[in-house]
Amino acid sequence: MTDHATPLILNCRRCGQVTTWQNNPSRPFCSERCKLIDLGAWASEQYTIPLAEAPAHIEAEND
Ligand SMILES: [Zn+2]
Repeated sequence: MTDHATPLILNCRRCGQVTTWQNNPSRPFCSERCKLIDLGAWASEQYTIPLAEAPAHIEAEND
């Protein structure tokens, strides 16, 4: 039986290493280590959402 909805392999979201989806408790990471690193990065706000570029209309305000 094949589950087309679930990829059998994926790239670790932290280091990019190819890992398996099945039998992988750390998915979508390759290992518990990468999972913890990634979660830790979020917790420490190393991932900040980059501000969008200044809207073009701001330039028009200086008329
Ligand atoms: Zn990894």
